[in-house]
Amino acid sequence: MFDEKDLILEAKHVTRKFPASEGRVLLANDDINLKLYRGQTLGIVGESGCGKSTFMRMVVQLDKPTEGEILFMGKDLSKMKGEEMRKNRRHIQMVFQDPAAAFNPHMKVRDIICEPLMNFGLIKKSEKDAVARKYLEMVELPGDFADRYPHNMSGGQRQRIGIARAIALEPDIIMCDEATSALDVSVQRTIIELLVKLQKEKNIAMGFICHDMALISQFSHQVAVMYLGNIVEVIPGELVTSDAKHPYTVALLGAIFDLNMDFTKKIESIESEAPSPLDVPKGCPFQDRCEHCMDICKTEKPKLKEVAPNHEVACHLDF
Ligand code: SF4
Repeated sequence: MFDEKDLILEAKHVTRKFPASEGRVLLANDDINLKLYRGQTLGIVGESGCGKSTFMRMVVQLDKPTEGEILFMGKDLSKMKGEEMRKNRRHIQMVFQDPAAAFNPHMKVRDIICEPLMNFGLIKKSEKDAVARKYLEMVELPGDFADRYPHNMSGGQRQRIGIARAIALEPDIIMCDEATSALDVSVQRTIIELLVKLQKEKNIAMGFICHDMALISQFSHQVAVMYLGNIVEVIPGELVTSDAKHPYTVALLGAIFDLNMDFTKKIESIESEAPSPLDVPKGCPFQDRCEHCMDICKTEKPKLKEVAPNHEVACHLDF
């Protein structure tokens, strides 16, 4: 399923630290290793504050790793500067959770979609209307929406405009940051279907950051589970519900609400809060919430190891 010739982005030993008060250090990402392939979706899932957005900001070149490298078609993104970095941004676009917050409210949809193309000198002013209509059609909106302002549209329609703007530059990668979290469930589904359709048509690699395990495992080719800045499990999307191994992944699955849920049975869940990323414990980061915790977990941090093809788990348990 994952052909190395389709590898487009690779994070190698990426660590991001932030200085905090009293000389302390916030470890937002700790030795992250991930791969993204053309035409495939990498879902990154975890609770708020687990470091998934920090990782995404480095992929879209809004931030740089403290250590490690992120290779885009073999070139380290963190080494790029000035014009090279600006030009490269065209290849990696982002879809935000709240597109309205990213749009200029005084701009019409036509200008919102065409702004990146104008910035890169790819179209003339006279071509804007035709281009905006073309991308509106691609995201299944009527062409005359080009004349509207974003505040005259629903949340789902605004997200479609966000997607149209992202694909207008014909990127190789789209990073979606909780792109459907603010939408109604029925609208969520249509936006995911649209993203998957465009991904297939354009062979785009997609990174999808989300806290919803049920949603992300539906359409991701691989799912990376993050906990306190660490990747604790990487698993093919279609195997998440049947084969997940890490106690944290299992607990996230146990927390999914199901209409047929049997509340008389014990489910593996985590009710306590994750520790602060300023106080990551020595050993396994999940030890304080893990009911399987052993002595070794308190002293030795487990490394990701392969338990099946394309399936890695960072845990001292034998699987
Ligand atoms: Fe639990 Fe130990 Fe595995 Fe960590 S390494 S998840 S504490 S069993």
